[in-house]
Amino acid sequence: LNHIVALQPENQTAVVEAGVLNGDLDQAAREVGYFYAPDPGSKPISTIGGNIATNAGGMASLKYGTTRENVLGLKVVLADGRLLELGGATFKNNASYDLTDLFIGSEGTLGVVVEATVRLRPIPFGDTVTGLATFSDVHALTHAVQVLQASGVNPSMLEVLNRVSIEALDEYEGIDLGGRGEQALLIFQLDVAVAGAL
Ligand SMILES: Cc1cc2nc3c(=O)[nH]c(=O)nc-3n(C[C@H](O)[C@H](O)[C@H](O)COP(=O)(O)OP(=O)(O)OC[C@H]3O[C@@H](n4cnc5c(N)ncnc54)[C@H](O)[C@@H]3O)c2cc1C
Repeated sequence: LNHIVALQPENQTAVVEAGVLNGDLDQAAREVGYFYAPDPGSKPISTIGGNIATNAGGMASLKYGTTRENVLGLKVVLADGRLLELGGATFKNNASYDLTDLFIGSEGTLGVVVEATVRLRPIPFGDTVTGLATFSDVHALTHAVQVLQASGVNPSMLEVLNRVSIEALDEYEGIDLGGRGEQALLIFQLDVAVAGAL
């Protein structure tokens, strides 16, 4: 179950067997100008089936959602051996109960996922900007995140480190992010830095 059955960039979809590694699907999609958005830290070693079973997300889920928002259809085998086809290949598929959604995150308790139709996205045009911002306290950072989220720049990643984490990182890496007593640090990424965004 480790084959990419079809890459369909014209439909922004791919059909993959459940044992395909997340990183391999993403790499194959990138070769044709697209990407697979769910990016758990285990991306190079985890399977699409495992990602579906755990509804894996990653840093980019802020913008692109978790696995749930990126799976359109499933083939699953039930305990009695029946093969079910759930969902489809369209972005809008709202007839009847959403059994695809029910399977996502069910950790193998409902059946075995053998194939998935997933959503691919075009690699964005323009520059990606990654940066750090430091704050004198966590509340100031929280306010900044609210303003940023409401601003329309649509960051693809936001990660927060508190003082304890900053100190641990400085010690581990031999760097000095917190030398001026910063209490909180925000790592941000805009994968599409539109004019004026910075
Ligand atoms: C280093 C590391 C970093 C991680 N980072 C993140 C992260 O950033 N974000 C995040 O959300 N998660 C993260 N995780 C958790 C990760 O999402 C899951 O470990 C991963 O999605 C599981 O995929 P797997 O192929 O390893 O599945 P396994 O670990 O093999 O299985 C996980 C569960 O899914 C079930 N399962 C597996 N395949 C199927 C299938 N085909 N059909 C039905 N059930 C199935 C298994 O029975 C089991 O219950 C991380 C894990 C590691 C080890």
